[in-house]
Amino acid sequence: MSTPAQLPSTEELRDLAADRLRRCGVGTIGEDAAPEGTGITARTPLTGGVLYRLPAATTEEADAAVTAAEAAFREWRTVPAPRRGALVKRLGELLTEHQDDLADLVTVEAGKIRSEALGEVREMTDMCDFAVGLSRQLYGRTMACERPGHRLAETWHPLGVAGVLTAFNFPVAVWAWNTAVALVCGDPVVWKPSEQTPLTALACDALLARAIADTGAPAALHRLLLGGREIGELLADDPRIALLSATGSVRMGRQVGPRVAARFGRCLLELGGNNAAVVTPSADLDLTVRGIVFSAAGTAGQRCTTLRRLIVHEDIADRLTEKIAHAYGQLRVGNPFDAATLVGPLIGPGAHAAMDKALDAARADGGTVLTGGDRRLADLAPDAVYVRPAVVRMPAQTAIVRAETFAPILYVLTYRTFDEALALHNGVPQGLSSSIFTRDQREAERFLAADGSDCGIANVNIGTSGAEIGGAFGGEKETGGGRESGSDAWRSYMRRATNTVNYSDALPLAQGVTFG
Ligand code: NAD
Repeated sequence: MSTPAQLPSTEELRDLAADRLRRCGVGTIGEDAAPEGTGITARTPLTGGVLYRLPAATTEEADAAVTAAEAAFREWRTVPAPRRGALVKRLGELLTEHQDDLADLVTVEAGKIRSEALGEVREMTDMCDFAVGLSRQLYGRTMACERPGHRLAETWHPLGVAGVLTAFNFPVAVWAWNTAVALVCGDPVVWKPSEQTPLTALACDALLARAIADTGAPAALHRLLLGGREIGELLADDPRIALLSATGSVRMGRQVGPRVAARFGRCLLELGGNNAAVVTPSADLDLTVRGIVFSAAGTAGQRCTTLRRLIVHEDIADRLTEKIAHAYGQLRVGNPFDAATLVGPLIGPGAHAAMDKALDAARADGGTVLTGGDRRLADLAPDAVYVRPAVVRMPAQTAIVRAETFAPILYVLTYRTFDEALALHNGVPQGLSSSIFTRDQREAERFLAADGSDCGIANVNIGTSGAEIGGAFGGEKETGGGRESGSDAWRSYMRRATNTVNYSDALPLAQGVTFG
């Protein structure tokens, strides 16, 4: 669909979205399914144009969705986990069958370049594969019991309805991380996607509804609630939501976390990051540049794991920044459907304003913009925002560097000693992803050690973004502490019971206590 310098029109994108939605099983949506000023507006960041106005869920509809999901829970929790896996297996098949449809929708709605959009959809099918395997591996432990004739073990049971709040920048993968695991764990899902990405959500919901029908599972295992933060607030406050998995900004987490805690609910927070890479003098600079450019400029800097801070040894800083600036000069910014494009649009004018403000603050702090930061294609699409990713050399880690600006800005800082690099690295409130580029094993191991990177993800010789689903994903400090996706992240979706079984004729008490 056109070249980087050309853009499809809003009408073409609406037609494309309508076709892909239909193929995924979503019924026809009128262009104005909700009157102006009500509901939510589906826009495309490619042109900034309106695709659809959609009705938002009412309070009553949200309540009914949770009621239905709770009823489905009572049935689903007794279905053996491997049979629950059959539903997720079918979902994975349908996602594979419709991967191109979904990828097109992700590009239209979130502005990701097509290859990254497809990668996001493949991550969903990977997640389904993982969850199907998991459905036979929800293991509990058996512990040595101190009392004779007793057995001590733990069992894992379905938890309840999982509420899922997702962000615009991973409109489908984060839903799949949560939903595939929740379903095999025995939990129905009530999903409130970002108000900026309702179309991909409708497509996912339709495909899961089909998988549910095909496998004879309870229809209310999945409920989609379109709407703004007020719907998220309802889920945060609803005691029937046993787990609220919330992905988004630190600002959102600060509001949602205490609300869920106030009712003693379980919360899984996946919030903002401010990810850094340390580059030491022994690093392979060509590999480092490739890793940096993908992590910093990929997805137009709109990943939670985007590389935002580069901490470079002073001896190599000039050489490295020169190479990075050169690579940035080759980045094609424009139509994300074009295979030559590497950087698509920002999600909207708000992101652009935040980027401009951050660049001004960096300059005021003595920073020098080495490349990028300027707007492109404004003549073709005045309501869309295409920018060249920026690289800014900073004299110090000032307040603006310590904040997450959700746009493509890479701040470059220098260090002299390794301890200084670690102090800079950990000297931010967020703790999501991190990496070190080095060929010195001692430096790599120190970075991964207890007093090294304080992040939930710490990599060596690869960038901060692009995690695989097999590992647990999440971060520390203001990133919220949640873990999703692989490894043993499933435990957040289940309730643990410790069982002591006495199969003897005696009743010995623990710790040698005698009573009567
Ligand atoms: P956002 O915080 O604006 O919105 C995220 C979701 O939360 C949306 O569905 C929104 O409607 C809802 N929401 C917002 N405020 C709420 C409130 N007070 N109560 C209930 N719900 C509320 O985030 P965004 O702009 O869509 O996404 C970008 C942010 O998400 C960045 O900070 C990014 O780092 C973060 N993110 C984190 C991860 C992760 O896994 N750590 C993944 C993706 C995005």
